[in-house]
Amino acid sequence: MKFPLDVLCVRTGTFCPVCRAKIQEGKVTQTDIDVIKVLIDIPEASKMEGEYVKSIKTERGIWVVIKGDISEAQARSLGRSMSRRLKSRVRVIRYKEGEIEKLIASILAPHQIVGMSRRYIFEDLVILKIFVRLKGRKSRRSLDEEREIISQLIGMPILIEEV
Ligand SMILES: [Zn+2]
Repeated sequence: MKFPLDVLCVRTGTFCPVCRAKIQEGKVTQTDIDVIKVLIDIPEASKMEGEYVKSIKTERGIWVVIKGDISEAQARSLGRSMSRRLKSRVRVIRYKEGEIEKLIASILAPHQIVGMSRRYIFEDLVILKIFVRLKGRKSRRSLDEEREIISQLIGMPILIEEV
């Protein structure tokens, strides 16, 4: 698996200028560093094809986005190993280049997306409105968490509307 920081830098905690710049620019956060530190010590993760994208921490856990051809089973097993090591609920989200809609769908699963539209609120302020049909027993509260995750990932305010 590829990482945005050098494995050696993460391991030693002494960052080279390239890694330091990424941290200072906010491209890599403390949550990312904590997650990468755990990931590089999981043998199955280092063998995996793929690229670490980003981790987002919410009050209920950590969402880890990994780009590439990893299977749902691999993602689950990785999530379990990381949950144990980080002592926090970890969910691994798979992402393939250009498949942002699938990424959003996997975050909102098991709920079903029935539509998405961009709304221009004011000049260059755009929000993405996602229409969702609720499935399963997930509470409304969990949708707030999902909204936050999607918003941070795509860098745009999100509105989720139940239909
Ligand atoms: Zn480095």
